[in-house]
Parts: sequence; C-alpha cells; structure tokens
Amino acid sequence: MLELNAEQLEMLKKYLSRAMNTEFYMPMKHILRSLIDSDVDTMLSIFQKSIPIITKDTIIGNEKSFIPKEAYHRIRLTCCSSGTSRGKPSFTFYTGDELLYFKKLSKRIHNNMLRREFGLGTPALIIVPFFMTAMGAIVFLQLMDVGYNISFVDSGAPVAKLTETIKNVGPLIIKTTPDIIYEIIENEVMDGIEIKNVFGDVEHIQFTGNVIGYARRRQIESILDVETSETFGISELGGPLGGECYHKNGMHFYASEKMIIELDTENKVLDINVIDKPTRGKLIATPLYREGMILLRYFTDDIVEIDPNKCGCGDENIRMKFLGKIQYCFRSNKTGEYFTPRDLEETLLSIDDSIWEFMLYVDRDKEKGRLIIEYLWDPKASINEIKNVLEDILGIKIRVEKVVFGKINRTKPKRNRIVFV
Ligand SMILES: [Zn+2]
Repeated sequence: MLELNAEQLEMLKKYLSRAMNTEFYMPMKHILRSLIDSDVDTMLSIFQKSIPIITKDTIIGNEKSFIPKEAYHRIRLTCCSSGTSRGKPSFTFYTGDELLYFKKLSKRIHNNMLRREFGLGTPALIIVPFFMTAMGAIVFLQLMDVGYNISFVDSGAPVAKLTETIKNVGPLIIKTTPDIIYEIIENEVMDGIEIKNVFGDVEHIQFTGNVIGYARRRQIESILDVETSETFGISELGGPLGGECYHKNGMHFYASEKMIIELDTENKVLDINVIDKPTRGKLIATPLYREGMILLRYFTDDIVEIDPNKCGCGDENIRMKFLGKIQYCFRSNKTGEYFTPRDLEETLLSIDDSIWEFMLYVDRDKEKGRLIIEYLWDPKASINEIKNVLEDILGIKIRVEKVVFGKINRTKPKRNRIVFV
C-alpha cells in the first residue's frame, strides 16, 4: 500500500486532473475522476491496481500525447533523450516552472555534495553531448547558478580536441559522462603520454549519465589524482534530480519528495516508504511536479538499488544506486538476483584493478558466456581466478579471453558491457 504525506496527496490530485487533459490518458478519464473523488486509502489502492505501468516504448512516437492541453503554450524547452538503449531518441517537454524547480534542486544537490568549497569564478568544464539532448540541458541547469566560470565542449568532438580544451581552459572541476574520461585516458595511454599531465590542475570530476561503480571510481581517482562525485537526471523526469553527498554512499534522490516512487521487485511492487533495507528492483516513478509531460507510473528502464537507511549528512531523502538498464541485466542462474553492468564492473575491478575495459557476451539461453578483458597494467589476478569468481556468481560456464589494450571497440553502445548473443 502506498503512503503519501498531505502535500503529496494534494499534488497527486492535481496531477491526476492534469492527466485527464492529455490525449494519452483521456480514455481513462473515468478512472482518473473516480480516483480524485475517492478517500485516501481507496485512492492509493486503485492507483496501483488500475493505472498501467508505462515504459519508453509507450512514449516513443507519441510524446505529444502526454502534454496536457493547457500546458502547450507554457512549454519552454524541448529536449531529446539520447536513445541509447533502443537506438531511437524520444522527446521530452518542460515548462518554465519545471525548469525553475530543477534549478532549485540543483542548488540543494550542489550544497550537499562537496566537502571542499570551490569559490566563485572557479573554472569548470562541461563535456556532454549538446545535440538537443536532455543531458546537456540538465547539466547546464545544474551549474548555471553555482557561480563557477563555466566552459563547454561537445563530447562528440575528437578526443584530441577534448584534451586540448582541458589544457587551454585549465578547469578545477570537470563535469562529464564516465565514457568520455575513459576515452581520454585510453587515447593518452596509447600515445604514451603521461595522463596526469593532460588533466593538469583538475581536482574534481563529477560524473553523470552512465552507470559507474565505486571500484571504477577509485581506479580513476588514483590514475588522475582527482576526487570524483556523481549526480543524476532522467530525461523524461527532468533534472538534476539527485546527487551524492560527501559521504559518497549512493545518490540522494532529492526530487523523490515530489514523486510517488515504487520499486518493482518482480515478486511485488513496493512503495519506497515501506522498504527498510537496501532493495533492488525496477524504478517506477510518478513525478508529481511534472507539467510539460504527464507520466503516471513510468518505468525508466533502470534497475536501481534503493537504500532507506539514514545518511550521516542528515538529509532525509532516500539514496539510490543506478545499476544498469534492464536491457543489459539478467538474473543469475544461481542466486536469482539481477546481475547488472555495475555488478560486473565492481566484481572485475575488485578482483584486479589493472583491468580496464571488458565485455561479457551471454548466450540467449543463459548457459554460457564469453568475457573479453583488456588491462591497463600487468594483470594481478589470473584468468582462472576471474573465471571462477564469475562462474560462482552467475552459475554459468564462462570463457575468459585477454585482448590487447584498446582492442575493445569504444563506440556506443559501449557503455553496455553485457550483451546477449
Ligand atoms: Zn547524505
């Protein structure tokens, strides 16, 4: 059963009436009306029983049918999600009020993120895709009010151009996706250049956009002698929506206070308010602050781990780890738990932190797999050790092959390190 506070309940009623004014939810008008007119308990149980869970497949091609009629003239930003998991981008729309809310969130995220204060005018470099993507807009909004001296470079630029920009700008902070940093490091290693020289005075790298685990971050931190942190947004829900605090233990989901969040654990769909220990599942969100697009019970494709335990920073918002898109996760034959791209990364890098790139091919009947790995330095663990650990976790036969550095193709969707063949 869902639990909502009084403010969320009021917001939900308004949200449901906005939904009635969208082309998509129009046919469900009677259900929505009866929800609004019900008492709280009935309302919440009908909400979960009769509102269908939608996915990106529901939205692609029908984006405009989620805009409430009254909001058409209030849309101030149209963005594109990057479309990496389906190969097709989808459009998202935001009103001016929503953008103001994201700016407010961004301040909270930032204030709780860094232990060391960076002063006004601190040079910061943003490296993200700028072709109409929501990520570009989300990151821009996030840093706009912080008072840094911000420069931008399109992550689609050749790596040589990116390194040249880093040298010329001399940023103390870089904000980008993990893939871009991997590309730069790889390029420099292959050219025999001392990597730390490229990153010059950079003290802090803030990641966003792709899954990255703590073992990988420790590796990057030691290679580049920097500190790292992480924030997130989700195209359809906007953002920034949350970020890590200085305790570095998952990202606080600040926007969750104006959302209904459910976690689908396959056995059942849980309200996050009833979770009492870190729990994995599919993230299903109803963003009550949304005006430009009304989404009810939207499954974002993300497999997440939600941690309800109190954090040392004092912030009450739940913490969340992104583990991977559902398309690249599978259930272990042995434990029945999701095995995610982040699990693969954490497992491999914890066995041997000289592992750099890797790709796991799993056959469709999930009986055997082939792992290819490349190393940054001399291997510390043997191929057999890696094979044994993975076979033990997954309960399938694994063949491990070492390939030469740079061999694993760094093109999209490279970020997806588990592929079904
Ligand atoms: Zn915290």
